[in-house]
Amino acid sequence: MTEVFAGLTNELKIIKGRHLYRTRRVIESSQQVVVRYQGKDYINFCSNNYLGLANHPKVIQAFQKGADLYGVGSGSAHLICGHSRVHHEFEMALAEFTGYQRALLFSTGYMANQAVLTSLLKQGDAVFEDRLNHASLLDGGLFSGATFKRYPHRDIQQLQKLLDKGSGKKKLIVSDAVFSMDGSIAPLQSLSQIASNNQAWLMVDDAHGFGMLGDSGTGSVAHCHLAEQDVPIYMATLGKALGCFGAFVAGPETLIEYLIQTARTYIYTTALPPAVSSAGLAALKIVMDESWRRDKLQVLVRQFRFGAEQLGFDLMDSETAIQPLIIGDSDKALAISECLLSHGVLIGAIRPPTVAKGQARLRITFSAEHEPRHVDYLLTVLDQVLH
Ligand SMILES: *Cc1c(COP(=O)(O)O)cnc(C)c1O
Repeated sequence: MTEVFAGLTNELKIIKGRHLYRTRRVIESSQQVVVRYQGKDYINFCSNNYLGLANHPKVIQAFQKGADLYGVGSGSAHLICGHSRVHHEFEMALAEFTGYQRALLFSTGYMANQAVLTSLLKQGDAVFEDRLNHASLLDGGLFSGATFKRYPHRDIQQLQKLLDKGSGKKKLIVSDAVFSMDGSIAPLQSLSQIASNNQAWLMVDDAHGFGMLGDSGTGSVAHCHLAEQDVPIYMATLGKALGCFGAFVAGPETLIEYLIQTARTYIYTTALPPAVSSAGLAALKIVMDESWRRDKLQVLVRQFRFGAEQLGFDLMDSETAIQPLIIGDSDKALAISECLLSHGVLIGAIRPPTVAKGQARLRITFSAEHEPRHVDYLLTVLDQVLH
């Protein structure tokens, strides 16, 4: 045993030497624009709580009420006795909101992606993934046993070449809709076209578009003027714009029933707490009723992009709440993140393997709870620290 751990100690040293060691900051407040860490306040520019719902009074109240009604634990998996009425209502609300026939709740987005990819694909099939897809999609594709092909970011021509070359009984094209570390949007219209031309299934992961894009916040599919028939397999998470926890897959009845029967990350796990669904329903209602949150976010994003361009920063091609600044080397990104912290700004350094080597970055994100003065302050501090 000691031998084994000696080996691990050594590996940890190597990770540290490469400036890739990760540590957790212990946050002492709720998730809001200003968070407390080690007794001090920091303006948070790295959360996925884009609409500011993680700490919204109505969402908290719904969560509490859900706990009063249903208790805390769900007691078992959905298929035994853990599927409560509020889970069911939430699934129906999600299906209606996104315009899909049905929706199925999962405990996490990671598990939802595993479910779809490993249930639909097996050895002899083929999966085609954008190189910048989220790790859960890449892992799901690998675990499925299908032939695994990655195409360059948003490169439809290369995707077509791979499809031409590739065999596979079943073919599945899968892409992040909004790329989590870049903020770019996938060319969903072209993907939908290419999928139908090649008799392939299309799945999108809309973790960062759901609640955010489209006129009513229904997500990237609507944003790209598409619907269920164009993107038949839709997945989104509830821990980002909705400020809650969990995820869902939406699609045709047959797909959802198939997942219920076969998806191991659905069957062999405890259902998420019912109160999370109560909170989710309340958050969904705010997404529907308060479009000002999305509008305000867009104004903040434009303010940031305008200011950053004035300062000569290289921005990425993103119109979403995710506005990364590429730094390059991991040690530099870490040092900058620490320096920002000393100015009261919290932005983590995103390093490999989350992003490619030499692509370490500050993943700056905005929330509807930020005010223009926060963005101004961020720009001032970035100017000082980066120049
Ligand atoms: C966050 C995220 C997931 C994972 O969702 P969790 O609910 O956090 O497990 C999957 N895909 C993308 C693109 C994500 O950003």
